[in-house]
Amino acid sequence: MKYIGAHVSIAGGLEKAAERAAELQATAFSFFTKNQRQWYATSLTPEKIFAFHRACAMYQYTSEQIIPHGSYLINLGHPISDKLEKSRFALLDEVNRCQQLNLTLLNIHPGSHLKMITEDQCLKRISESINIVLSKTKGVTIVLENTAGQGSNMGFLFEHLSTIIHNVEDKSRIGVCIDTCHAFASGYELRTQDACIKTFADFDRIVGFKYLCGLHLNDSKSQFNSRVDRHHNLGKGTMGRIVFSWIMKNKRFNRIPIILETVNQHYWKEEIAWLKSEQDKNRS
Ligand SMILES: [Zn+2]
Ligand SMILES: [Zn+2]
Repeated sequence: MKYIGAHVSIAGGLEKAAERAAELQATAFSFFTKNQRQWYATSLTPEKIFAFHRACAMYQYTSEQIIPHGSYLINLGHPISDKLEKSRFALLDEVNRCQQLNLTLLNIHPGSHLKMITEDQCLKRISESINIVLSKTKGVTIVLENTAGQGSNMGFLFEHLSTIIHNVEDKSRIGVCIDTCHAFASGYELRTQDACIKTFADFDRIVGFKYLCGLHLNDSKSQFNSRVDRHHNLGKGTMGRIVFSWIMKNKRFNRIPIILETVNQHYWKEEIAWLKSEQDKNRS
């Protein structure tokens, strides 16, 4: 059983996310628990929390199928201490919001060294940030997304993710989310079945499937190993459709949210239907 959906908008209220996902016939969804371009948000009122829970119950989404995405402003490896503090505080706030919404996963980008500290120092800061936030919260797993390695973003090698995890104290509340576009752009080949098998075998050896808590399914506008993060709709970019079919027939990706962040939302319903049909093909 796979949970397949998209990153939907919260315009009009958090509960609208569940409604929009249902319209797409999605069995998973992602969303921002607040405006992702602002540092602070007003706290969630009991009414807002209730409306979200009611919508999730109505459209039959459990926390296993929902993976909210953290703010892009957060940099858990920030080289400057007051900025680092601000990011840690913002993450704490986001984890608290997830806790209030009874959500168990929060997807974040690891962080950037901004060319002011070494990669190793940055990775250590990221783990430290996560340790601080985990020690002050409960019930929510922080899910590190691999990046395309654009600019000074860390997380573009599986080794980065495993190093961060290695230094996180509570291993039961740390996970990873693999974005296919980011992996491809950072040099993990995914254009053939053999390449998919090899890339995910490397992932299993270096990070481990037990940490996999989500997938972002995106084709890429940018070239292989370009380190440029540009999503495209499935089958329309430089990756082709093989990787997406391969994922759909592989049981190791069962029971985790699989989320589209493709550029043209107009195709989401079609893309979700196609992914479901690829899954069904391999069942028979
Ligand atoms: Zn992503
Ligand atoms: Zn991206």
